[in-house]
Amino acid sequence: MSARKTLVAGNWKMNTTAEEALILAGEIAKTYGSSEQTEILLCPPFVWLGLVSSIITRTNIKLGGQNMYWEEKGAYTGEISPAMLKSTDCEYVILGHSERRRYFGETNDLINKKLFKAIETGLTPIVCLGESLEIRESGKTNDVISRQFEKCFDNFKDFDKVVIAYEPVWAIGTGKTATPEQAQDVHKLLRDLLSQKTDAFDKVRLLYGGSVKPGNAADLIGKDDIDGFLVGGASLKADDFCGIIEATL
Ligand code: PEP
Repeated sequence: MSARKTLVAGNWKMNTTAEEALILAGEIAKTYGSSEQTEILLCPPFVWLGLVSSIITRTNIKLGGQNMYWEEKGAYTGEISPAMLKSTDCEYVILGHSERRRYFGETNDLINKKLFKAIETGLTPIVCLGESLEIRESGKTNDVISRQFEKCFDNFKDFDKVVIAYEPVWAIGTGKTATPEQAQDVHKLLRDLLSQKTDAFDKVRLLYGGSVKPGNAADLIGKDDIDGFLVGGASLKADDFCGIIEATL
């Protein structure tokens, strides 16, 4: 039995109105606000961070940003600084989500820069890695994941302060899930890569993300190196999100 505390994180992406955000956070807080065994994290759009924070303030539920910029402040119209996330009660920040890479040109080098800044600000980064369908079908998954890992964590040492999410791009929002074995294989690879960098390799939580639902969560969490989930679509329905949490208990 691993000593790593299970983490279930909901990435709401660019979804919810203020009212929907209030209701969703409220329902999750009502059901799992006092959860201790599994850590629960909500990552709403930036504009609802304050609102969601006010709902979960006296619960065990944590708050996170979906992205951040690496500068502290200044003339960067439209960007959000790590300090802004901190002052809205965020403890976590998602970095390098595949949608950021694909639609906004984020590179491993840029994610590396954000990683150092998040740590410096006292935020726990959730660094996302994952391969495309083309890469998986060509048998190069391990090479690509290893390269992403090396580049994102270039010169990095504070591995006890990060979470890593393996999110195969072909499984995100597509309804296709990696089998528990496929996911475990990559998580094992990540654990091996970590063991070459840090004595804390066994403490780093590795999340799986990609069409996780209440129906597949139990099999996935049963694998040795799967320590929780980064959930997109299913985090927008309180029943589904709570069903995933339940599967981890
Ligand atoms: C995600 O956005 O991180 C994700 C895994 O999405 P979904 O659960 O919808 O596949």
